Amino acid sequence: MLQRNVWKGLWTFALFVALIGCAADSERSDEDAGSVTASETSAGMDRSEEIRAKTASLDAARIIAADGEPGNWLAHGRTYGEQRFSPLDAIDTENVADLELAWYADTDTTRGLEASPIIVDGVMFATGSWSLVYAYDAKTGEELWRYDPEVPREWGVNACCDVVNRGVAVWKGRVYVGTIDGRLVALDAGSGEVVWDVQTTPQDRPYTITGAPRVVKDLVIIGNGGAEYGVRGYITAYHAESGEQAWRFYTVPGNPELGFENPAMRKAAATWRGGEWWEVGGGGTVWDSMAYDPELDLLYIGTGNGSPWNRYIRSPGGGDNLYLSSILAINPDNGSLVWHYQTTPGDTWDYTATQHIMLLDLEINGQLREVLVQAPKNGFFYVIDRRTGEFISAEPYVQTTWASHVDPETGRPVETDGQYANEPKLVYPSPYGGHNWHPMAFNPNTGLVYVPVLDIPMVFGQPGQFAYDVRTWNTGINQTLMAPPDSLTGELEALGLVKGHLLAWDPVAQKRVWQVQHSGAWNGGLLSTAGGLVFQGRADGYISAFAADTGRELWESQTYAGIIAPPVSYEVDGEQYIAVMAGWGGAFALASGVPPQSGMIARHGRMLAYKLGGGQVLPAPSVATIDIPEPQRLEADAAQIERGKILFHAHCLACHGAGAVGSGVLPDLRYSNDAIHEVWDSIVLDGAFAVKGMVGFDGVITEDESEDIRQYVIKRAHDGVAIQALLGEA
Ligand code: CA
Repeated sequence: MLQRNVWKGLWTFALFVALIGCAADSERSDEDAGSVTASETSAGMDRSEEIRAKTASLDAARIIAADGEPGNWLAHGRTYGEQRFSPLDAIDTENVADLELAWYADTDTTRGLEASPIIVDGVMFATGSWSLVYAYDAKTGEELWRYDPEVPREWGVNACCDVVNRGVAVWKGRVYVGTIDGRLVALDAGSGEVVWDVQTTPQDRPYTITGAPRVVKDLVIIGNGGAEYGVRGYITAYHAESGEQAWRFYTVPGNPELGFENPAMRKAAATWRGGEWWEVGGGGTVWDSMAYDPELDLLYIGTGNGSPWNRYIRSPGGGDNLYLSSILAINPDNGSLVWHYQTTPGDTWDYTATQHIMLLDLEINGQLREVLVQAPKNGFFYVIDRRTGEFISAEPYVQTTWASHVDPETGRPVETDGQYANEPKLVYPSPYGGHNWHPMAFNPNTGLVYVPVLDIPMVFGQPGQFAYDVRTWNTGINQTLMAPPDSLTGELEALGLVKGHLLAWDPVAQKRVWQVQHSGAWNGGLLSTAGGLVFQGRADGYISAFAADTGRELWESQTYAGIIAPPVSYEVDGEQYIAVMAGWGGAFALASGVPPQSGMIARHGRMLAYKLGGGQVLPAPSVATIDIPEPQRLEADAAQIERGKILFHAHCLACHGAGAVGSGVLPDLRYSNDAIHEVWDSIVLDGAFAVKGMVGFDGVITEDESEDIRQYVIKRAHDGVAIQALLGEA
């Protein structure tokens, strides 16, 4: 049952992180707002020319023939099929225990790091918080250049899931990045200087970009996010050379009265019944995964949840709501839809199909099938024919209560009563998904797909009313139900339901082969290697190597920061490296209300690279635990606290965490001191901290409501102190 010592460690550590969190954030902005093109101190002219030359020949032919240069990692998932398998085998099950840090580089950021680096002939390209781009010498870690797109920090309020970025694309001497404020930027690979910069989203709508671009046939493909706030999803292709738009494909229909862009939208609109979804946008954003099959010449994309989440509001007459939560095959020449497969028809749980799409050739029933596989948020692992979109199989890879199974004849999920049409329901998986954006990996030698799994429930319920507000998550569900239970022991027990593990899955037999339970839920993406290893960073600030066939842990190293990003592997001068970004953040870290784990001490981000006998040691940060300071007197009555709780979970949850519990990224409001309480309204209403990303909510909430929220935060500070005492006695 309740493991008090574990939770005690968690909580005291949370308190510490929360406090340094406040301090670090108040120092941050000047440093981050640096020049557009960072110093040439390291790169210099010769080095820039050298990098330009190395990357100039990076094109489709090189990516397709990637196995011929195993020391490089040329595309997001290494290949167009996105298997995240490195053919390098110098580091193997026998010697991985000798893996040590080779170098590390500070990113000078304090928010989540989610990027998968690209490595071309000894040069590494990666992205960080606020869409910064870094070029490193992959052998030494020397920073060659840094590009800061200078995203206005106020735009951060539109980012549902932290100001993260999942990486660049490198192509013919250029580096391409999507920015959190909706731009696609082409940089000179040698110097980091801007070649072109296009706005890919309307600036009067709360769009963001966190996904990595892909380059297919000299077209840079980029999607966007924002379905929590209310947008209409689409992808756009730009000519790599000029930045000129080639085509755009919307994933959901707009207002039918205005006509349709193409036949696919006309067909889709017939599956949205009633309501005025276009007012909120409809959603279906393509915020992460893509894959490309050069032989079939098909681009695969995954689409997101509806906007709002709640189908009873979004499309009250029912219908599948195409093309939400779907895998779409697109003709990359003109952006037309070739086929679609919808994983969650009529989605109402935020069950996106934006998760990793991986292309595999599998022998199924004695026949070699060209398939794609996906473990979307909805909890089922799908195998789909990638030529035709034909459903082959799907089985649950995690606790799944919203549907009993996927009908083998129709390929449609069979819903249970986990729907919340009339009364609140506890549903597995949660909106964090059974699996989120954290990439999977495949090993052709074991035939297994490795999945970073989240095992978390959530209570869904109808809201009292729904009014669209562009500044707030527009889920259309009762977000107050995300708050922890009112009793302190209930709160601790609820935290115990939040779990995660590493899963090895047989995609042919559609069954679990092994799993490794982790102490936290929100762990890193994956890498598999020909050395028979699977690498994963964890929420508790470690990176580990596991045997690919058994899951036995063979190596681990402390990183002092929670890891969410996926590792990659590459080779320089005959030595194999494993690299990963360490930097805690992302949706779960902001909104879950789950305190950070005890191994997560550092809050600033780093790129870490390991090799056999690397010999370097990561400097350990000094550790202190700090309790929640003496809270203000609790003067509010129960009714005011309840009002504050509802308002908090409507407006503050996404950044400051359910139950006002911070998870070590943005300030934990329970630590607000008297000085903060004195200027509360100037922060909350007038935007005194807007330069740090905390915009004012004047016009959204009233002065009285701001005070209700303040009183709820004070109540939660008292709860936090009581939990400290409870755990202290245990
Ligand atoms: Ca979502």
